[in-house]
Amino acid sequence: MTTGDFVYDSLRRIVGQDFVSNAPEDLYIYSHDLGAQPPRKVDYVAMPRTVEQVQEIVRLANEARVPITPMGGGLTLSALALPVKGGIILDMKRMDRIIEVNGSSKYAVVEAGVTQGALKSYLEKHHPELQHSTPESPPAATVVGNVLIHGHGHLTPAHGTNSRMINGLEVVLPTGEVCRIGSCAVSPYWFTRECLPDLVGLFVGWYGITGIITKASIQLFPKPKLRDLVLFSTDDPGLLSDVVFDLFQMEIAENFFAITQDKPAWMYGHTYITVTIAGQSRDEFECKKTQLLSMFNGRLDLIDPIPASLRERYLEVPPFAATQADFAKGGGFEYYGCIVPVEKVPEAWNRGLGIARKHDVVFSYGLQALDAGHSVMCGPVYSFNRADERDIEKVRHALEESSRLALDLGGLIWKAGLPGQALMMERMDRNTLALMRKVRKVLDPNGIMNPGNWGD
Ligand SMILES: Cc1cc2nc3c(=O)[nH]c(=O)nc-3n(C[C@H](O)[C@H](O)[C@H](O)COP(=O)(O)OP(=O)(O)OC[C@H]3O[C@@H](n4cnc5c(N)ncnc54)[C@H](O)[C@@H]3O)c2cc1C
Repeated sequence: MTTGDFVYDSLRRIVGQDFVSNAPEDLYIYSHDLGAQPPRKVDYVAMPRTVEQVQEIVRLANEARVPITPMGGGLTLSALALPVKGGIILDMKRMDRIIEVNGSSKYAVVEAGVTQGALKSYLEKHHPELQHSTPESPPAATVVGNVLIHGHGHLTPAHGTNSRMINGLEVVLPTGEVCRIGSCAVSPYWFTRECLPDLVGLFVGWYGITGIITKASIQLFPKPKLRDLVLFSTDDPGLLSDVVFDLFQMEIAENFFAITQDKPAWMYGHTYITVTIAGQSRDEFECKKTQLLSMFNGRLDLIDPIPASLRERYLEVPPFAATQADFAKGGGFEYYGCIVPVEKVPEAWNRGLGIARKHDVVFSYGLQALDAGHSVMCGPVYSFNRADERDIEKVRHALEESSRLALDLGGLIWKAGLPGQALMMERMDRNTLALMRKVRKVLDPNGIMNPGNWGD
């Protein structure tokens, strides 16, 4: 029996015939990402249902020395759930139980395959007074996949990146043991990660190479009774740093975006700024709105009334905001988030637009405040025709140049794919890089977790 047969047969024994495949037509789908990265080789896909099955697959991978790549929705756009060196994709979608919602301590414990859409509907039905920080990604994206990549949701501008909302994790280590991280290591309540050494950092931002998360507890937040949108415009993006700073001097904004595009023509040269305000009572709500209007009176142009369809689209959770460019035929797009210090916004904005225009790519350029105004994501969403390899290549070049700009400005690349990881590792403090490698080696001595991701 060849190794391939051994792996396939073992996977079939572990998860059952219907939940394993090495058929080319299945692997084709798993080897492609939605963004601009080229496809990669996948040898097997397996869909476990239980923690024990995940453990068995990990033991098998160690025995056969075959790589494993965990996958949630596979929707990062930077190919983070594609294997760099082939092997097994562990598709977590069958682990889809919402284990618990604690309404008093405001958290939800979910299995790794629970999607954004499933959690949102569950809360709407059973806990309408609560919400989670919902990214703009398609509803099939998983809650776990999102928090692991420091995802951003509609509550991120006010409350921090979604990874900060993790209370605890259950992890199958690359050596097969199951670990609990956070209060759930000591207590039946998954309510906090305070008071203990914070081991969550061993698994967040590593893109699945340090362990397989099987459960996570995430914080929930009060759902406001009132929400509305205030829309401003300006022709001077030089104001944006001050706008972010001033806005977050008070707790006014639930969400905040700025956006510009060259197409359609009416948007050219204008920056549109949307602020979502929310409140539990009419008084709270009106007070925030009055403060907001007086804060920017004379500095930004108020657009009032806002067209009803636009208001509706932005008030949706998640808002359907950033991707309204006159997108190219063929329907592909990609962005890395360039996370930059707030004071660098005007330079990032002007130089970033220059890059997008130079590469002649259809784009939408945006800014979202993060972590109560401590940083911003400032960068382009590039669109391309998926059927046109030259068009995709243009976007790859534009992405690389935008990423270099972020680093030159002292920023970082969010959800960096292989090219972005290489750029960051190139500039990384050598001892830090050595520490990352040491941590990885300790956790994964046989190097089975997507080797090549974050270097070797
Ligand atoms: C239209 C569109 C809009 C988007 N808007 C946003 C947005 O507003 N905010 C935002 O944050 N993102 C956004 N994204 C990016 C992306 O879709 C989300 O971040 C998404 O939540 C990622 O979740 P996923 O389940 O697809 O993760 P995946 O792509 O499946 O996985 C992400 C990473 O985590 C690893 N991983 C997944 N599951 C596990 C596990 N159980 N254990 C260990 N490692 C694991 C994978 O190997 C991979 O490295 C958008 C994407 C699209 C297409």
